[in-house]
Amino acid sequence: MRKEFLEFAPPLIGQAEIDEVVDTLRGGWLTTGERAKRFEACFRQRVGAEDALALSSATAAMHVALAALGIGAGDTVVTTTMTFASTVHVIEHQRARPVLVDVEPDTLNIDPGAAARAVRDHPDAKAIIPVHLYGHPADMDAIHDLANRHGIAVVEDAAHALPARYRERTIGAAPSIAAFSFYATKNLTTGEGGMLTGPPQVIEAARTWSLHGMSRDAFMRYTSDGSWKYDVVLPGFKYNMPDLQAAIGLRQLERLDQMQARRRAIVSMYDKAFSTLDAVQTPVTRPDVDSAWHIYLLRLRLERLSIGRDAFLDELRRRNIGASVHFIPVHRMSYYRERYGLRREDFPVAEREFERMLSLPLSPAHSDEDVADVIEAVTDVATKHRRRAA
Ligand SMILES: *Cc1c(COP(=O)(O)O)cnc(C)c1O
Repeated sequence: MRKEFLEFAPPLIGQAEIDEVVDTLRGGWLTTGERAKRFEACFRQRVGAEDALALSSATAAMHVALAALGIGAGDTVVTTTMTFASTVHVIEHQRARPVLVDVEPDTLNIDPGAAARAVRDHPDAKAIIPVHLYGHPADMDAIHDLANRHGIAVVEDAAHALPARYRERTIGAAPSIAAFSFYATKNLTTGEGGMLTGPPQVIEAARTWSLHGMSRDAFMRYTSDGSWKYDVVLPGFKYNMPDLQAAIGLRQLERLDQMQARRRAIVSMYDKAFSTLDAVQTPVTRPDVDSAWHIYLLRLRLERLSIGRDAFLDELRRRNIGASVHFIPVHRMSYYRERYGLRREDFPVAEREFERMLSLPLSPAHSDEDVADVIEAVTDVATKHRRRAA
């Protein structure tokens, strides 16, 4: 058995990132400046976006996107229950009403049929936020059809989706509005951070919302070509990304292809090993998409096991494997459940899949031995707790 605890998703940080941060510290410009601008330009080019804005988190990116679109009190925004709570919080921050819908059984992404019913039932719907869960793109053709039919906006929660492709389009490329996360566990990290991509007019408005509502280029007001004069045109937030973090992002971006190749290699090892275990189910990939493989989802066939998901996770932990669950559906969270009177039976797919899902350790920092340890532990638990045929 493994001696040391295997972390779920450690970052892969090298000398290049360390040197770039040190250079930034020595350079004396710590907050948003030249490096943040360069990070925006490199990121925009990498995903083929029209424009990009570096921010303090993906949550901040989604929040300023909704603000830039003018979504506020009296509006409804439709999103999925199978996400991290902040996807829904940003709707509340804008005093709009979130309407949660169920997911598709294979990808666990927002069910376009359920989203269509929610839009039909809420004439004040102004936007839809699909989440590319685990890095597998949501059904964007169906979602764009729905949005176009009703003249509503689409803001993609792309926290897991760097880099991912849906048909011929890279997630983040025109004409989408997408929010990426550089949180410590994500595919590319700046410790904390995010990026909003979209059309220049949306990004320009979002930029103003993200920095105190100050007029354009107030970012540079302490440089030689800046001016002390500025106006405040709206009551904005404080969401800018400092150069210290952009320094990490610039170097991480150079490693992205290599990190993704390693993720895919680990996924192949898991897929191969678990295809012969009949008590578990490996992830599904639809044709015409490339997943970013942020999370490796393992689903238990509970009818073939004598233990449930929670006990399965405990058994893995006992074997020093740091597995997790993504996510506890938002309709189960007491704030949303109580505020909107949400009932579990209205989300049958999310409920059923939540009970049998777990996420295995996945990071380009993991070695082949780490991966072999995970495979051994999962195989051991699934075999020991296999339900005997009656
Ligand atoms: C991580 C995550 C977020 C939030 O990202 P932050 O950068 O931490 O704000 C939002 N949605 C999903 C699906 C996430 O996994």
